[in-house]
Amino acid sequence: IKKIGVLTSGGDSPGMNAAIRSVVRTCSYHKIECVGIYRGYQGMIEGDFIEMGPRSVHNIINKGGTILKSARSKDFRTPEGRKKAYDELTKAGVDALVIIGGDGSFTGAEIFNREYGFPVMGIPGTIDNDIFGTSHTLGYDTALNTVVECIDKIRDTASSHNRLFFVEVMGRDAGHIALNAGIGAGAEEILIPEADLGLDRLVESLMKSKASGKSSSIVVIAEGDKIGKSVFELKDYFDLNLPEYDVRVSVLGHMQRGGSPSCFDRVLASRLGVKAVECLLAGKSNFMVGMLNDAVTLTPLLHAIKGHTEIDRELLRVSEIMSV
Ligand code: ATP
Repeated sequence: IKKIGVLTSGGDSPGMNAAIRSVVRTCSYHKIECVGIYRGYQGMIEGDFIEMGPRSVHNIINKGGTILKSARSKDFRTPEGRKKAYDELTKAGVDALVIIGGDGSFTGAEIFNREYGFPVMGIPGTIDNDIFGTSHTLGYDTALNTVVECIDKIRDTASSHNRLFFVEVMGRDAGHIALNAGIGAGAEEILIPEADLGLDRLVESLMKSKASGKSSSIVVIAEGDKIGKSVFELKDYFDLNLPEYDVRVSVLGHMQRGGSPSCFDRVLASRLGVKAVECLLAGKSNFMVGMLNDAVTLTPLLHAIKGHTEIDRELLRVSEIMSV
């Protein structure tokens, strides 16, 4: 392998730049070339490439987002699109790829590898932490810190006005962000898709904490939660049926996807980038590099795509005990 292409694809997350930097510098360290591919698979199809060296990635380890931009490409889902991408890579002399993205991006990589035998390695980049084969995805730790910081601020105003706040956080179908940030921010209740608390239990629990002397409460709700009501509908329900609560809603939204990556995410990105390149150089392909028990590990892309992540049930118990 003489020239590795690197791209970011799907939703962006803090730490992607640190991963690009790591891939580029590892290539340079091993004296091979590196090409940045703009806008994910779409840029690959359009031949939107840039030669990268160690100096082209200076001052980006601390930046959120991705300097290579990200995109969702419809064309790459078609055999014609992938043929174009293959032709562009061949023309540019790129003979292996590092894909930083989520399970959709890995699916594309896996198909591309199957069709053309093209060596590919995946690095998990998403704030949702919903990828099998790694305890942490790039951006997850930063997002947790962002959410905790926001909830700390909400708590100040909630307690000044004796209010009940419903705070919706991201995470898609997974409750990792809600559960961990909820505990970290001292939320009274945490609603996640993996554990259906139910409306009655929520009300019961809030009444109990009110009776125990709590004047304000924060309930963290994962966007994929299955309570059957949006945060706004929950507020309407409380306004109508439990008017003794002064309810406010906060949907944290896209701020959770941005910001300077935490030290944890920067170190993780650096480690995974090194491993991805070195595995390609060692002739490995079709794996995702991840981290389990603080060791960098390889998981076949297909397993990473198909496997499901589990939440730590013990954390649910911890949360319950903390809201006594
Ligand atoms: P996120 O978790 O943030 O959504 P993702 O990587 O899962 O990130 P997707 O939009 O699902 O994001 O996928 C990114 C890109 O990967 C798609 O726009 C498409 O180009 C490619 N891709 C996804 N699924 C396939 C597929 N079945 N075949 C070919 N390419 C695919």
